[in-house]
Amino acid sequence: MAEFDLIERIRSRAPSRADVVLGIGDDAAVVRVPADRELVICTDTLNAGVHFPLHTAPFDIGWKALAVNLSDLAAMGAQPAWCTLSLSIPGDDPVWLDSFLDGFLALAGQHAIALIGGDTTRGPLSIGVTVHGLLEPGRALRRSGAQLGDDIWVSCTLGDAAAALVLMGKADAGAIAGGDTNASPLAELRERLDRPQPRVALGLGLVGVAHAAIDISDGLWSDLGHVCKASGLGAVLEVDALPASPALALGFDTTARRTLQASGGDDYELCFTAPAGARAQIEAIAVQTGTPVTRIGRMVAGTQVAGVDADDAPWVPERTGWVHFSD
Ligand code: ADP
Ligand code: MG
Repeated sequence: MAEFDLIERIRSRAPSRADVVLGIGDDAAVVRVPADRELVICTDTLNAGVHFPLHTAPFDIGWKALAVNLSDLAAMGAQPAWCTLSLSIPGDDPVWLDSFLDGFLALAGQHAIALIGGDTTRGPLSIGVTVHGLLEPGRALRRSGAQLGDDIWVSCTLGDAAAALVLMGKADAGAIAGGDTNASPLAELRERLDRPQPRVALGLGLVGVAHAAIDISDGLWSDLGHVCKASGLGAVLEVDALPASPALALGFDTTARRTLQASGGDDYELCFTAPAGARAQIEAIAVQTGTPVTRIGRMVAGTQVAGVDADDAPWVPERTGWVHFSD
């Protein structure tokens, strides 16, 4: 299949929107940006064997390539609008491409985001996505906005994606002791690794409520560290308050579980800070958006993240950030 046929296959399925003046097919796309909005833009690339295991299903690769980008928009509090797709693929397999598009477009449809262009080349499998979102002027949820005494919150549960990698034997060897495949349902954990759910509705709900936000792609410990650095504060993390899925709790002992939750990475949940006075409002937003949230600590004077367990004893993870894996 020639490059032109691949592009035509993508074009024929690409969703549009009323504000797309010119989509796929010209030298560039043209969109209508509302006069009363700021444009929010981010890009993330997924490389085979680095950002996903080599044998990942094409549907999941397509889903995840868009999901990790939507997660960044969510962390800014932006409404997704348009995206472009830069595809480097080793062959010209139309069955692979169709499954990939099934995953990509399933998520695009959920968020009414239009695919307005991209690039298609022959090479090692690599997927670059750029997403564009809209935001009321001055309302972006920045890493630098945390204030002294803020609560620290996190969405849904942590550690599942990294736990899946441990059970698949793909994680940094020796970093996590054990993991019981018989006890812990790998399929549920893999779902979290392969099909992260970007917390777009939660991010939108937090605009004007949260002081700061970040999405957890590299691990809570290191990503919260970015909030600390940008905000000129420290953070105390209550490690026993970190939310765990039943699947994670089944298969890992306390030490392994804490490490996966605090520093596993690939979670794509939102970590945000807000004043204590906003607790009831945040609980209501969580209910409205169908996204559970948990309070996991507070912003303090200092420069870095510190952990404490339920007995107030200090705790640090065995490793603090995401380590890329290979097949
Ligand atoms: P050019 O040579 O002018 O860059 P291309 O042949 O690369 O044009 O692309 C033709 C059209 O197809 C452009 O509108 C481009 O945005 C779109 N396109 C190419 N590859 C993709 C892709 N993977 N996904 C979406 N649109 C694509
Ligand atoms: Mg081109």
